Amino acid sequence: MKWRVATVVESRAETATARTLVLDVPDWPGHLGGQHVDLRLTADDGYSVQRSYSLASPDRVEIAVQRVDDGEVSPYLTDVFAVGDAIELRGPVGGWFVWRPAATEPVLLVAGGSGIVPLMAMIRARRAAGSKVPFRLIYSVRTPEEIFYADELRRPDPGVDVSYVFSRKAPEGARRPVKRIGLADVTTHGWPPDFQPSCFVCGPTGFVETVADLLVAVGHDPSRVKTERFG
Ligand SMILES: Cc1cc2nc3c(=O)[nH]c(=O)nc-3n(C[C@H](O)[C@H](O)[C@H](O)COP(=O)(O)OP(=O)(O)OC[C@H]3O[C@@H](n4cnc5c(N)ncnc54)[C@H](O)[C@@H]3O)c2cc1C
Repeated sequence: MKWRVATVVESRAETATARTLVLDVPDWPGHLGGQHVDLRLTADDGYSVQRSYSLASPDRVEIAVQRVDDGEVSPYLTDVFAVGDAIELRGPVGGWFVWRPAATEPVLLVAGGSGIVPLMAMIRARRAAGSKVPFRLIYSVRTPEEIFYADELRRPDPGVDVSYVFSRKAPEGARRPVKRIGLADVTTHGWPPDFQPSCFVCGPTGFVETVADLLVAVGHDPSRVKTERFG
């Protein structure tokens, strides 16, 4: 897969520590919700690093980067990289963790933190295709301030149910105690296994493993539980 030169055409704060970037990529072949790109940065001395970022939208090359404070690449992308800047990019990458608009099964999306990004691409792809397939999103996030796409998710499309799991601080009046995702969250807000939903789970490795185990434990067919680990 060839490297192309991408240019930032739009940049906006997603949260206080995360940024959405829209890139113009010449001859972009198109992509599916769930796929990602690899970005490569090369210093003047030839030292080069590359990282993967999920695509957030079905119809343009949009990513959202969560700053990892001691990270090598993400603080550059969130704090320095600006409109007009260029970067090497290759993609789209990945053919397994994808939702195809022709699919007819109900969909369960479970996101941990920035793991929302490829799942948002699936929600947006459903909208773009006019699909009526029922979607449920369970979005685990530390605090309300760290919700990506907050406005868009506040007014979800008909047929898309959104529920939140707050692991450090909940909004005032929330009934669920603040804690990590557990069995009750998956059974209350997910689909019953009898509905045979396609499940997509994305986030940090520990989160993904916990949720995938819970889904299989309550009876979901492991072949229908697709996972993407952000590391
Ligand atoms: C397929 C795929 C898709 C991805 N999509 C996205 C995306 O859409 N948005 C996004 O923000 N990131 C995404 N990531 C993660 C991304 O590739 C980087 O790993 C992340 O930005 C950290 O890079 P860094 O160079 O800043 O940190 P590094 O220099 O690689 O790491 C610095 C320190 O932070 C720790 N660390 C690394 N990654 C994380 C993390 N995600 N959370 C907490 N601590 C971490 C490391 O263990 C290390 O201690 C994706 C990863 C994969 C594999």
